[in-house]
Formats: sequence, structure tokens, C-alpha cells
Amino acid sequence: MTHIAVLGSTNMDLVAFVAKAPQHGETVTGREFRTIPGGKGANQAVAAARAGATVSMIGAVGNDSFGTRLRSTLEHSGVETDHLRTTEGSSGTAHIVVDDEGGNAIVVIPAANGTVDHLAPGDEGLIASADALLLQLEIPLAAVLAGAEAARAHGVRTVLTPAPAQPLPLELLNATDLLLPNEHEATTLTGRTDPGAAALALLEEVPEVVVTLGAAGSLYAARGAEPIVVPAPQVTAVDTTGAGDTFAGTLAVALTEGRPMPDALAWAAAAAALSVQRAGASESMPYRSEIEAQYT
Ligand code: ATP
Repeated sequence: MTHIAVLGSTNMDLVAFVAKAPQHGETVTGREFRTIPGGKGANQAVAAARAGATVSMIGAVGNDSFGTRLRSTLEHSGVETDHLRTTEGSSGTAHIVVDDEGGNAIVVIPAANGTVDHLAPGDEGLIASADALLLQLEIPLAAVLAGAEAARAHGVRTVLTPAPAQPLPLELLNATDLLLPNEHEATTLTGRTDPGAAALALLEEVPEVVVTLGAAGSLYAARGAEPIVVPAPQVTAVDTTGAGDTFAGTLAVALTEGRPMPDALAWAAAAAALSVQRAGASESMPYRSEIEAQYT
């Protein structure tokens, strides 16, 4: 098994389902409330572990009941949590209102995730022992940069999902081996709306770029090679939440196992296609045997 380290967020999603979202000053009665473990870091960790890697999560949860549940959810998926710190105070939460038209409004409170602004003792050694480091942007940038630079120093491949979308410092892009934006994030980073043009612009800072294209699959660009588009399997999507994180986690597994990039992208697309056919984020992520059965 290959070893993947994930440095990033763990959140409890607090989801209220309502017919129509309240306007400012209004109170409405909702239909259902669910607590769903999430956070892009934790979701990518679960995806990679289910896909067959040894996965270690670096981050923080609070010393509240959400923190206990977030940690045990990761452990149940086989993710090692020795480097997931427990801090004084609340775990990260996302407060989500979903209406009957599928629209949503979200407030994210980073809480414990906001304390992850540096590498703790031992984190660098863990990163050095991994085959790849997965990064996203739901913890302070200082830690993302420190993680990327630690990986670079030890020759460990870094895969950065630049979400939530925001402009990025050059040092971070330059410490990234593979940048993995969706179309919206690629546009935010480059000002280009065409994914191919955005990927080419990003190649000035990063050696390899994969832009995910939703149901259209993904576009891969590398310096000195023609960009390729790898299609996604055509499926009926019921919930695309977490599709990008499934894609990131499983792509990392495929690459660390030595699959060539086009095969790795097809493998990740097979996994993400399975996840969109089921409701939920991390609970919809497929296991390795399911991915192998879908991948042809
Ligand atoms: P999300 O925010 O929903 O997690 P994202 O916006 O980060 O996703 P997308 O580009 O929408 O990322 O999707 C990631 C990958 O998931 C795609 O490259 C594709 O392989 C797969 N995918 C997404 N939607 C579909 C779909 N409707 N059918 C098949 N595959 C899909």
C-alpha cells in the first residue's frame, strides 16, 4: 500500500433542509436536520483510504462532541489520526441551509481548523515518510505553504486543491507539483474562463495541472506536452457533493501506485462517478473493489 498524508480541514456540516430558505429577519420551519462529517481535508483522506492507501490526517478538531465524532469517522474509514490534534474549544463547523430547489447558503466557522497555522513537531517527519501530500485551502495558508515546502524538501509529491477559490501566493504554487482546481477555481486563479487556457497559464507556475470539468471529466496539462481531456463515465448524478474530493483522494492513490496519468485520471473519474450516484459526501465515497469494478 502507498502512504498518503493529508494536511487540511475537518468540519462538522450542520445541514437544515427547508422548502424555502429564510430571508433576512425571517424565521421558517424546516423539514429535517442532519450532522454530516466533512471538511475537504477529511473528505480527501477518506476517499484515499477507501481507495486502498495508508492515509494519515494532519489537522485539528476541537475538544467538543463534534471533535470526537469527526475523529472516529476518520478512524472508521481507516485513516490514521495520530497527527490530528485536539484543541481547546470548538471543532470546525459548516452551517448549511439547503432548499427544495437544491440551492444552498453556507456559513463556515473554522474554529479548530484556524489553529492549524503551522506544522507541529512530528508533522514534517510524517510528510517526509509519505508518497504524496494532499493539500486544500480550508486551513491557514501559512500551514499549507509550510506543508508544501516540507514535502518539496523531502521529494514528496504535493497535490493542491485550490479550494475555496482565492488568489494564491507564488511561493505556494511554486512548491506544488500537481494543481487540481475545478473550472471555477481555475478561472479565479488565472482570469481565464476556458479551462485549457487557464491550465496553460497555470503551467507557468506549476509543472502539472488537472482541471476537473464536472460531468465532462478532467483536463490534464503538463509542460512540454499536449493537453488531454479524460472523459467521465456517463451516469445519473443524484448528489455531486464531495465529487471533487473523491477525485483528488483517488487520483493520489492511483499516481502513488505508479499508474500513468491518463489511467490515473480514468481511475479517479470512475471513483467520482460512483460517488455522485449516491447521496452524501464522505459516506458516498467508493471502496477500492467498487472502483476496480467500474474502471475498465
Ligand atoms: P464538488 O464541489 O461537487 O465536490 P468540484 O466542483 O470540486 O466538485 P467537479 O469538477 O464538479 O469538481 O467534479 C469532480 C469530478 O467528479 C469530475 O472531474 C468528474 O470526474 C466527477 N463528476 C462530477 N460530476 C459528475 C457527473 N455528473 N457525472 C459523472 N462524473 C462526475
